[in-house]
Amino acid sequence: MPRSTTAYINLDALRRNYRTASERAGSARSMAVVKADGYGHGIARVASALADVAPKYAVACIEEALAIRAAGLAQPVVLLQGVHARDDLADCERGDFEPVLHSEYQLVWLEQGGYAPRFWLKVNTGMNRLGFRPDDLPAVMARMEKTGAGRRLLGFVSHFACADDTNSTMTAAQTAVFVTATSAWPALMKSVGNSAAHFIPGQPLFDWSRPGIMLYGGSPVVGKTGPELGLEPVMSLEAPLITTRVVRAGETVGYGGAWVAERDTRMGMVAVGYADGYPRHAGTDTPAAIGGRRIRLIGRVSMDMLAVDLSNAPKAVEGDPVELWGRTVGVDEVASCAGTISYELLTGVTSRVPRTYL
Ligand SMILES: *Cc1c(COP(=O)(O)O)cnc(C)c1O
Repeated sequence: MPRSTTAYINLDALRRNYRTASERAGSARSMAVVKADGYGHGIARVASALADVAPKYAVACIEEALAIRAAGLAQPVVLLQGVHARDDLADCERGDFEPVLHSEYQLVWLEQGGYAPRFWLKVNTGMNRLGFRPDDLPAVMARMEKTGAGRRLLGFVSHFACADDTNSTMTAAQTAVFVTATSAWPALMKSVGNSAAHFIPGQPLFDWSRPGIMLYGGSPVVGKTGPELGLEPVMSLEAPLITTRVVRAGETVGYGGAWVAERDTRMGMVAVGYADGYPRHAGTDTPAAIGGRRIRLIGRVSMDMLAVDLSNAPKAVEGDPVELWGRTVGVDEVASCAGTISYELLTGVTSRVPRTYL
């Protein structure tokens, strides 16, 4: 028997979250961002579940685009990180992948000719990771026209640095820079919005929005959980209770003796640890749940197990499934207890944990 530690994936919830994204996107269409193995949910299953609603997918790299094709899906796939080698342009042309070109060397590859993929240009409006500066855009566009490559240019992409922070003025500033920078080419498409941008009142999303984390029910907005934003959890990470005992007042639990029992306490060990992707930085008092009742972690997370206080679940016995995150305990809550974000937890569930699709 394999251990029952499992990530249950609710594909109906995923589809409902996609619908929420497209409703919030208004007249913009939404490309489903399924990079990083569908944010840890399994790219083939996630992309397939959205196939009849999503007109386009977006991934980071070409391997991920090929995984979508291997799943038998035909929609165009945007490569958010462009291409890493000139020959990748051939795969793009053949596979209907749309690289987002962001740097001079990629333009040179395009100008060398031979391959004719459709593509996007990334405009750096202030994130300062990738993209051409607005000042450089006229010269880039003049080159594109000269070589004829411009005929396959779909449009312009930019990315927000602070859309998760409702108090930041940066998103509005980046939007203004983007509009001005691209105004000379009104026939080309525009795409700016990550998940967080779907929750900013009045934020223009132009032609294509790019929802990622919200599809999986994680919150893109600082200080709010996914459910508070009308999103449904998609992954439920569960693991069995493999032993229970009473530790006596004054005894410690786990590595470092980091937790000391103040009174006699019934506790249990759960078969999940940081080698499964559960965050080691989640300390004592991080919530978990058993039978819909909230319990709490105690002591340090080990590689293959962690300890819970069962005071709040007196009937729990060996074999009972413990929810580490899911419907009762939000992944955003666990992330915040571990000093991180839901993105890292979801993408971090390791291959040791089987995914079961509901
Ligand atoms: C990952 C990514 C997205 C999706 O971001 P979320 O915050 O998960 O919605 C959108 N655009 C780009 C360029 C990305 O890299």
